[in-house]
Amino acid sequence: MASNLRFQDKVAIVTGGCKGIGRGCVDVFVENGAKVAVFDIDDAVGQTMKPEGPGEVFYIHCDMTKEDQIKAAVEATIVKFQKIDCLVNNAGWHPPARTIDGFSAEEFRKLLDLNLIGYFLACKFALPHIRKTKGSVVNISSGAFTVGQPDAVTYVATKGGIVGMTRALATDEGRHGVRVNSISPGCVWTPLFEEWAKTAEKGQMEQIKDISILGRFADPREIGMACLFLAADATFTTGEDLSCTAGIERGYGIKMK
Ligand code: NAD
Repeated sequence: MASNLRFQDKVAIVTGGCKGIGRGCVDVFVENGAKVAVFDIDDAVGQTMKPEGPGEVFYIHCDMTKEDQIKAAVEATIVKFQKIDCLVNNAGWHPPARTIDGFSAEEFRKLLDLNLIGYFLACKFALPHIRKTKGSVVNISSGAFTVGQPDAVTYVATKGGIVGMTRALATDEGRHGVRVNSISPGCVWTPLFEEWAKTAEKGQMEQIKDISILGRFADPREIGMACLFLAADATFTTGEDLSCTAGIERGYGIKMK
C-alpha cells in the first residue's frame, strides 16, 4: 500500500529549528516521515526535542554566524543520515523598530552575517550533497521585503537579499536538477514576534492582524506546510518566492475596514 507520508526516509536540515517557524517546519517534516537535522544554538530545547511522528530529529549545536560550525554541522548530518534532500534556511532575527539614523554599519553587518551570509554558507556546504539527491533548498525570506516594512531598513534589506540569492542559485543549480525557492511569511506568532509585541504601541497589534485578509496571525506549522509543499510536491517550481502572508500585498485587510 502506498504511504501517505510525503517526505518518508528523506533527510532535511532546518536551521533555527528549535522554536518559531523553524520548529513548525521540523514538526511537519517529522510527521511526514523525514529525518531532520536541526541546526540551532538553543541547546536546552534542542537536546529535549521530541516531535511526534514517524520521522526523527537530530539536534546539532550550530551558530549560523560561524562558518566553521556550519561546515561541521553539514558534515555531522552526512555522518548521521548519509544524505541531504532538503535544506530549510530559516535562522534569522528582526531588530527592534528604528529608522536608519538609529542603525550603525556594524549592527547591519552583524545582521547580514545571520540573515544572509548564514543562508549562503549553509547552501555552499549542503549543495554538493543536495545535488546527489536532486533535492531542493527553501529559504525563509519575509513579506516585509515585498511590502517594505517601516522602521526596519536593515532587516528588509537582508530579506530582499535572500530572494535575490534564491533566484540566482536556482538558475545555477537547475543543471544539477536542484530546485531553490523561498517563502515570504507574513505575521507568524512566534517567540520573536511575541518579544517584539512587548514593545508595540497601543492598538498596534490589532492593526497588524488587520493588514492580512484573514485578519489573524499564522501558526508556525502553516509555514511548515508551505515548506513541505515546496520540498515534496512542487517539482516544477524553482527560483520562486511563495507568499504566505494571507494577502498583505493586496492591502484589502485595510481597504475593507
Ligand atoms: P524565533 O526567534 O521565534 O526563532 C528563531 C530560531 O532561530 C530559534 O530557535 C533560535 O534559537 C534560532 N537562532 C537564533 N539565532 C541563531 C543562530 N545564530 N544560529 C542558529 N540558530 C539561531 O524567530 P521566527 O519568528 O520563527 O523567525 C524565523 C525566520 O522567519 C527568520 O528568518 C525571520 O526573519 C523569518 N520571518 C518571521 C516572521 C514572523 O512573523 N515571525 C515573518 C516573516 C519572516
